[in-house]
Amino acid sequence: MDNCLFCNIASGEIDSELVYSDEHLFAIKDINPQAPTHLLIIPKKHIRTIMDIEDSDKELLGSVYTLAKSLAQENDLEASGYRVVVNYGSGAGQSVFHIHFHLLGGRPMKWPPG
Ligand code: 5GP
Ligand code: ZN
Repeated sequence: MDNCLFCNIASGEIDSELVYSDEHLFAIKDINPQAPTHLLIIPKKHIRTIMDIEDSDKELLGSVYTLAKSLAQENDLEASGYRVVVNYGSGAGQSVFHIHFHLLGGRPMKWPPG
């Protein structure tokens, strides 16, 4: 997808602070962090939103959570707690329409989120 920000970051056309990459997933530091640790875990496949997930994406999406776990461990978030968030649609704050998972930690997290 030529005009997709995260596809362009995945291909290296746009710079980012990469913290992880494999065949199917990558993770970057959020450009506007909302917590001391704020990473984005992003499938390389262009999936527009959580509503566009297909049955064949199940393994890919499962691997998002094993990566979230290891990134949380690397960032020492296991004891203090952390949050993994997907925003769906502009009403919930989605601004980039290529699915991504926010990994937030390093400060107390309120509930419910705003
Ligand atoms: P959303 O609002 O769609 O749930 O999350 C999009 C996230 O992407 C936001 O937290 C925003 O700060 C981040 N973001 C937007 N543009 C860029 C960029 O060019 N580079 C990086 N690393 N993050 C970005
Ligand atoms: Zn994309």
